[in-house]
Amino acid sequence: MLKIALSKGRIFKETLPILSQAGIEPIDDPETSRKLILDTNRDDIKLVIIRASDVPTYVEYGAADVGVAGKDVLLEQGSSGLYEPIDLHIAQCRLMVAAPVGWIAPTTGRLRVATKYIHTTQRYYAEQGKQVEVIKLYGSMELAPLVGLADCIVDVVDTGNTLRANGLEALENIADISSRLIVNKAAMKMKYVQLKELIERIRVAVAS
Ligand code: AMP
Repeated sequence: MLKIALSKGRIFKETLPILSQAGIEPIDDPETSRKLILDTNRDDIKLVIIRASDVPTYVEYGAADVGVAGKDVLLEQGSSGLYEPIDLHIAQCRLMVAAPVGWIAPTTGRLRVATKYIHTTQRYYAEQGKQVEVIKLYGSMELAPLVGLADCIVDVVDTGNTLRANGLEALENIADISSRLIVNKAAMKMKYVQLKELIERIRVAVAS
C-alpha cells in the first residue's frame, strides 16, 4: 500500500491531472467529501488529505510514503528525512518581501518583518548580515504594515493582486516557489519497486 499526502485547494486541483496521467484517479472528491483518506482506482494507492503545512511532517514520519508540498513549506520546515525527486511545476509563485508603496527602509534600528515564514525570513536577512525582528503571523500578512505592526512582510505572491489591493508592493524576491514531490527516505528503501514505478510515472506525466 502506498499513501500519497495532499492538501486541499490549489495543490490538489493542480496535482489531480498529473496523478490522472500517471493512472491514479481518486474515487471521492475531497472538496465535497469529508473523508480524510480517499480510495483511488488503484487498490494499492490511497490519498491522505491534510493541511499543506503538515504534508512534510506526515511524509517525514512515514505516515504517508510520498506527498506534494510547496517549496515555501519545505524551505521553512527544513526536514532532512525526505527526498525531493520531482519539481511538479505547479502552484507556482514567489516568496517575496513587500512593503507599502513608496516605503523606504530605515537606515538605523531593527526592521520589523511580519510573516508566517519565520525561519526562512530570519535566514534571508541573516545572510545579508541584517538583524531583524520577525513577527510570526498565521494569515493576512498584508494587514501588518497597514496598522503599524510591522515595516514589511514576507509572503508568497502570485499575481500581486492582493498586495496591490492593500497598497503594498513587492520589493525583493527571496525564492521562486513551486510544489515538489517528496518521498520518505525509509519508504524509498522498503517499497523501492512500488515507489520507483510511481515516481517514474509522475516524472513522465510532468514532462508531458
Ligand atoms: P496573489 O495572486 O498574489 O494576489 O495571491 C493571493 C494570495 O494567495 C497571496 O497572499 C498568497 O498568500 C496566496 N498564494 C498565492 N499563490 C500561492 C501558492 N502557490 N501557494 C500558496 N499560497 C499562495
